[in-house]
Amino acid sequence: MLESTDEMLRYLEEYLGMPMPFRKLDFIAVPRFGGAMENPGLITFSSAILLIGKSADAAAQRRALGVTAHELAHLWFGDFITPDYWNDLWLNEAFATWLSVKAVAIAQPDQAYEVLDIADKTAAYEIDHGLDGRRVRETIMSRDDIRASFDRITYRKGGAILTMLEGWLGEERMRDGVRRYLRNADGGTVVAEGLIASMEEPSGNIEIKRFFTTFLTQTGIPQIHASVQCNGAGPPKLTLRQSRYLPLETRPRQTKEDRKRRWHIPVCVRYPSDASGTATVRQCTDLGEVSAQTTLKTKSCPAWLLPNDGDTGYYHYMLSADGFARLPLDQLSPKESLGLVHSVSAAMHAGDLNIEQGLGLLERMLAVKSIKVHEVIHEILYELANSVIGDRERPAFAAMIRRWYRPIVQQVGVTPRPQAESWMTEVRPTLMLLLADLGEDPALQRQVRRHLEAWLDDPVKIDLLLLNSWLQVAALGADEALATRYKDAMRSTRNRYHKFLFSGALHGFRNPKLLASPLARNQRSPAAWPVLAGAMRYPALRKIVFEALKPSSIVQEEAASLFAPMCDKATSHPLLNLR
Ligand SMILES: [Zn+2]
Repeated sequence: MLESTDEMLRYLEEYLGMPMPFRKLDFIAVPRFGGAMENPGLITFSSAILLIGKSADAAAQRRALGVTAHELAHLWFGDFITPDYWNDLWLNEAFATWLSVKAVAIAQPDQAYEVLDIADKTAAYEIDHGLDGRRVRETIMSRDDIRASFDRITYRKGGAILTMLEGWLGEERMRDGVRRYLRNADGGTVVAEGLIASMEEPSGNIEIKRFFTTFLTQTGIPQIHASVQCNGAGPPKLTLRQSRYLPLETRPRQTKEDRKRRWHIPVCVRYPSDASGTATVRQCTDLGEVSAQTTLKTKSCPAWLLPNDGDTGYYHYMLSADGFARLPLDQLSPKESLGLVHSVSAAMHAGDLNIEQGLGLLERMLAVKSIKVHEVIHEILYELANSVIGDRERPAFAAMIRRWYRPIVQQVGVTPRPQAESWMTEVRPTLMLLLADLGEDPALQRQVRRHLEAWLDDPVKIDLLLLNSWLQVAALGADEALATRYKDAMRSTRNRYHKFLFSGALHGFRNPKLLASPLARNQRSPAAWPVLAGAMRYPALRKIVFEALKPSSIVQEEAASLFAPMCDKATSHPLLNLR
């Protein structure tokens, strides 16, 4: 961490054209402290984040680097200059988030770091998809408002707005604008208007103001519908149309105002420049109105068009199912792949793609070696399994899961492998559970049980996520003998993490006799609800789950929202011809 810090600090000084604004810089690792705090000259870190050894896994390294870079950037943005008032808190956090990606890329120019967890904008989607989200620049009236503003909208969406601005202006203009903003503020307090004015200089550009205003003072995320027209002899035309992205579940509460929201969006697309497909063209359009049409810089009809080049834009995009399918996965960056899978997910949740089309596109994306892409696919599969897949469709759905995931699990293995690519280590635990649970794969359950029992006999050091996954997978097919071993191990272990995992795994039993007692004990715990949703998939368990839910109305309310069908349109689809 010390080596990387040096490099990152030097990079920031050079990029910002200004030395570190304080005379000294120390780090202190604090036990039982959450996150980190950018005190000038003495940054405090959770010891769990900072004190990692060289053998730490990729996720811990990413976190340590990302948090350190974030705090270093705060020395300028937050410490040297600081917002005039809390409504512009984003001026601190968005800059720290955006700059952390650049600094980490310098210290660790590894592709795996391209989608840095603490800067990942997709974490803001869940809030921004709803009708009750927060604005990046929000009115602050009370202390509760201040507390609420330290959220993913301020950090992740705020950072994404700066990324989008840089994609639009280019690296040089962006850097010059940021330097001007720092110089103009000169160690004082700042407001958003100051940043906007610095970015507009020297030419004065009204569009920058509209861009900032529409993204800072409106909730929600735009969706861009892109279509290419290749008619007759002239060059192909690109039509872009914007609307607010709204998943179907928001439909009952949408107002006219919710639907007619518009943004000033810099849309940058990429497509092959000629029929050979060897070179590509990047082309940007300012989408300030509902729709715009531009002429593509190629004579031939492009084989594909990516509507978010570099995934720098904060928007979802919509193509025809065929337009999605033609995107060349091997030519997309990790960030672009993540943007694609989120756009497909968004289109499924809005009813723009039906389930069969959506699943076809997701199956293609299984080839992408990215933990984040796989996580999105897993989430969709669990949502389907817990909502629209009924008893009639279940065998076909499980068969599909086995067809998708058996080859991948075979490749990554169920135990750690020396020299495995880091994405394998990260994706292995969830993949196994998905195949064993949704894929109802008894062979995998038996295989994992053998490894788990050997470990219980001789509990050597093990990755906690892997242990958790083994416990969950083996629990699915557990008999009384295995259940007894779980309970014994839970009582006898002195490792509090292991104790926690054992107690959680008791909810994973699918044998009605074994599940009843853990449910009766823990039905009030929110942690049990997703487990209940999982258990509801099994007809033999429904009565038990229902009985466990009955005593508490709060639990019933929460459970109702979990079990509500994902969306009305999805259920009305003739549920796929799953093979
Ligand atoms: Zn921060």
